[in-house]
Amino acid sequence: MPSTRRPCRNCKIDYLPQRGEAGEPSALARQRAGGGNKLTVIAQLRGLERSFSNGIKALGPLDLDIEGGEFLSLLGPSGCGKSTALRIIAELLMPSAGGLAWPGGKPRIGFVFQDPTLMPWSDVRGNVRLPLDLKRVPRRESNSRAQAALARVGLSGFSDAYPRALSGGMRMRVAIARALVAKPQLLLMDEPFAALDEIGRDALNEDLLKLWREDSLTIVFVTHSVYEASFLSTRIVTLSPRPGRIVSEFRLSPPPGRTSEWRASREFVETARQVSLSLRTAVATAA
Ligand code: ADP
Ligand code: MG
Repeated sequence: MPSTRRPCRNCKIDYLPQRGEAGEPSALARQRAGGGNKLTVIAQLRGLERSFSNGIKALGPLDLDIEGGEFLSLLGPSGCGKSTALRIIAELLMPSAGGLAWPGGKPRIGFVFQDPTLMPWSDVRGNVRLPLDLKRVPRRESNSRAQAALARVGLSGFSDAYPRALSGGMRMRVAIARALVAKPQLLLMDEPFAALDEIGRDALNEDLLKLWREDSLTIVFVTHSVYEASFLSTRIVTLSPRPGRIVSEFRLSPPPGRTSEWRASREFVETARQVSLSLRTAVATAA
């Protein structure tokens, strides 16, 4: 597999399991960029820092390129500034220093928070329709788009249900449908499955990969789970404890249709081991 490494002064490790397969989104991104090893950079984060008024420096400096079509996980210990970084990328929060550029123009962005944040007084269809209602999309169209988004997350039969009747996993599926209904190009996800039990989390991991492939999405996924990051990602960036800085970068080429069998494979276990080691070293060094 050709290496797609670019110089990264923060990287201590650049781990590339030799398991590339045609059709991987990182390969797709290269194709879109005209073949070869050229990747489409959709966002450039340069020297990003964020401090809060209480004197806490949460993040940075952080230099990172987000590549079109990748599944990028930001992995780091609690409190290291992952949510802060994601909110800056979403332009919900201003950096204290540094900046963010969109070389090809700002993409449509969807955001999935750790809490599904559904409106309890509205049914599932109304919750999913919300981004379209805010844009005053006609009700006929918004209802049919909401229904289609619900079908994609496996909730076709639940459009009339209210959030209180749903399990945690189903509520998160509604939140994902709500993000998808506006047809995002870049999906930002902040520990969306952290509150779910392992079986629910595994199922959502697999379904999310399907949605990512089908929509050629770029996903930036925040997690503190080594296993989740290792299962989902085409690239993992590990962050140090606060203020979060990049410690290492892992480029991965897992099989496109990975399912539960992949979790038991030697390659997966080895990836998780390497990532875990890097994270532990970062935490120990900072302590
Ligand atoms: P993570 O998502 O990695 O757990 P956060 O980005 O939420 O971390 O927070 C990083 C650090 O910044 C934490 O110590 C947190 O308490 C602090 N922090 C986050 N938001 C604020 C805020 N609005 N005001 C003050 N401190 C904050
Ligand atoms: Mg967080």
